[in-house]
Amino acid sequence: MDTKVKLLLVLIATVCVNAVSYRDYKVYDVVPKTKEDVSILKNLLEENKYIFWSYAVKVDNVVKIMVAPEKKDDFEKYLSSAGIDAKLVIEDVQRLVDAQLQRPVSRSQQEYNWDYYQTLDEIYAWLDKVAEDHPNVVSTFEIGTTIENRAIRGIKIDYKKQERPTIGFLKGGLHAREWITPATLTWIVNQFLTSEDTNVRNLAENVVWHVIPVANPDGYVYTFTNDRMWRKNRNRANFTSCAHLGLNDDMSNGIDLNRNFGYLWMTTGASQDPCTQTFAGPTAFSERESVAIANYIYSLQRQGNLVYYLGFHSYTQLILVPYSHVGGADVLSVPNYGDLFEIAAKGAAKLTERYNTPYRIGTSADILYEVSGSGFDWAKGQAGVPVVLLYELRDLGQYGFLLPADQIVPNSEEVLDSLVEIDRVTRQIGYYHYQNGGQILKTSILLLVSAMLFVL
Ligand SMILES: [Zn+2]
Repeated sequence: MDTKVKLLLVLIATVCVNAVSYRDYKVYDVVPKTKEDVSILKNLLEENKYIFWSYAVKVDNVVKIMVAPEKKDDFEKYLSSAGIDAKLVIEDVQRLVDAQLQRPVSRSQQEYNWDYYQTLDEIYAWLDKVAEDHPNVVSTFEIGTTIENRAIRGIKIDYKKQERPTIGFLKGGLHAREWITPATLTWIVNQFLTSEDTNVRNLAENVVWHVIPVANPDGYVYTFTNDRMWRKNRNRANFTSCAHLGLNDDMSNGIDLNRNFGYLWMTTGASQDPCTQTFAGPTAFSERESVAIANYIYSLQRQGNLVYYLGFHSYTQLILVPYSHVGGADVLSVPNYGDLFEIAAKGAAKLTERYNTPYRIGTSADILYEVSGSGFDWAKGQAGVPVVLLYELRDLGQYGFLLPADQIVPNSEEVLDSLVEIDRVTRQIGYYHYQNGGQILKTSILLLVSAMLFVL
């Protein structure tokens, strides 16, 4: 055979083999009713034969489990023999994947909008365009590069150019498959620049915002080109056989970046097995993405008063308060836990007002599962950022990571509502004040005058 033809065939074969298909994969809702049910499901989770969409296996919690078509019968038989109900909720996962990849045909390619999910290239091109359109307010930045040589890029919004400003940091896309998070953050950036709502304007202009929509660019690209359900980065340094878990060896080509940060690394809710979804890496901060984020946070702290570190993930509709390894009374190991709880609770209540979307709040250990080595726990425990929260965005699992694109805008609107409220409460508690808000000045003068009158 001609070498060129051979090469071409190999190339075609590679392309075909690479893209993982979820055709006829099923998703079941399973609700453990007893502690015995929980331990049966936890064993299943560890065996890795089936793909758990969430790791929160607790009594009365809905656990979503994805099952390959050829394992369907085994799965159903096993659960029914254990006396656990499994309700089929998604017949064909690939159908949802295809729907999410759909591009509107009628729209001009130039026009960026939020009725479909953007690729990394589209997001980066948009950041450049926004910076070009608002040269006095917006600039782009790069915090580092990935193992596949992609830039980790962000956008800075600075209206007032103050000496030592109040700073907020927003980060999405640390987990590759959580597509709603970059979409939400770019939507919010757009609102910061274009909204005419007074509250949004205040929030946009009185804080210098540093926004990284896609903190894991390699993984994000991989979810478009190869495997929609990919979560980790794409570092191949720990490549190994995943036969012991019955998985494709490619599973070992990545580190869970939200287990790789250097705060209580590898103490709970993380794994040393490269074939798992929560592989924490060989050492803390072994990964370029986590190092770049940590360094950037320190640089922001040198530039001004870094008040906010808000991480965005999906799904489950939660606002998590650090630390992720503590529950019950131990939550108070965070010195300002009470403040953070109040800020999160009021933010969540405001979020719910718009579309009645319920959100829960608490530490991950209390309402999700124990975790260590996450970015937001590091931001609190090591970097000492005052207001550190983690969003788990829509939905509750009906679509999970495959949230239909028509939910991008309503999801983002309610999140922005909560940010406005979070900022209001944060200032009210006294973490910072808008530097030159007319209202504060007027109030101060009034107070001063009344105090003088009182003294006189
Ligand atoms: Zn996540």
